[in-house]
Amino acid sequence: MSYLAGLEKRISRMDNTPLDQARQALLAAQRILVTSHIRPDGDAIGSLLGLGLSLKEAGKQVQMILSDGVPAAFRFLEGSQQIRKKPEGDFDLSVVLDCSDFERSGSALNGHPTPDLNIDHHPTNLSFARINLIEVEAVATAEMLARYLPQFGLPLSKPSADALLFGIITDTLGFRTYNMTPRALRVAADLIEAGGDLPSLYFAGLLRRSFEAARFWGAGLSVLQKDGRLAWTTLSMTDRRNAGYLGRDDADLINVLTTVEDIDLIVIFVEQPNGHVKVSWRSKPGLDVSQLAVQFGGGGHAAAAGAEVAGGLQEVQEQVLSATRQLFSENIYNFEGIKQG
Ligand code: 5GP
Ligand code: MN
Repeated sequence: MSYLAGLEKRISRMDNTPLDQARQALLAAQRILVTSHIRPDGDAIGSLLGLGLSLKEAGKQVQMILSDGVPAAFRFLEGSQQIRKKPEGDFDLSVVLDCSDFERSGSALNGHPTPDLNIDHHPTNLSFARINLIEVEAVATAEMLARYLPQFGLPLSKPSADALLFGIITDTLGFRTYNMTPRALRVAADLIEAGGDLPSLYFAGLLRRSFEAARFWGAGLSVLQKDGRLAWTTLSMTDRRNAGYLGRDDADLINVLTTVEDIDLIVIFVEQPNGHVKVSWRSKPGLDVSQLAVQFGGGGHAAAAGAEVAGGLQEVQEQVLSATRQLFSENIYNFEGIKQG
């Protein structure tokens, strides 16, 4: 094969990487729908605004959709008021961010079961789109976008930089999760250079609480239980009503519980209005809870995973704790803490 023919072949192979396909798809499309997952977290909103606002600035027609809408705590982000619950009219390209399976995108893509592009960092990702750009080493989907927008020649203005930095800060709990990398810190530094306001975003994403959320924590903290190095608690609909808390999540209580010493695995059960229970797991290194979450129809990362399980609080708690204890006992000697103890 001639040098030129070889080069052409290499280039055409390069053209076929998911990264290149993603770049081509984003640059070629004119009307783009961007969405993320139900019960959106900071990375879902940050990634959505980071990419959505940048594409708009590049002159594209963009619809930013979240089927659950924007939680009050994220409405301070510039551009969040442009996010709608339902798409309107046609689009040439659908992009799903930070979402590991189609179901988790909610009703945003009703009638379009195979999205065009999925950009995500979850190891449990099912590659459900036409183009799947998945990087499990990325600490947040926002980290991937922060690296790729400039590479794609897309603009990174202050609102996009703020949104992406918010995604990284929240998914890494302020640069302290076990999956943190030097690259993620460098990307965050680039975002600060592009106008990202680290102290304000850190406070808004990780420290600020509503009065109702603090009261809701109280209910969960008062029934916190432990068995060896496993701890769990529940939040019922009654607790939620009594506290006046409006969200359907745990108000981040799980991240408070991960600060309790001598505990390697935390589970929280949040009763939902639809006869389901939202379960969240958080573990220390050595114990992969993502497959446990998949077993219950959910997903996530090795150290942080979740699932929505059908059934009552008591019943789901028994099933999940039993499966969790099983995994816990099988893996107990992987723990640094226990080996040393
Ligand atoms: P959390 O427990 O805070 O809801 O979520 C922890 C991690 O698990 C996040 O990365 C989140 O994306 C993932 N996760 C939580 N719930 C679900 C779920 O129902 N399905 C899937 N696929 N992932 C989930
Ligand atoms: Mn994420």
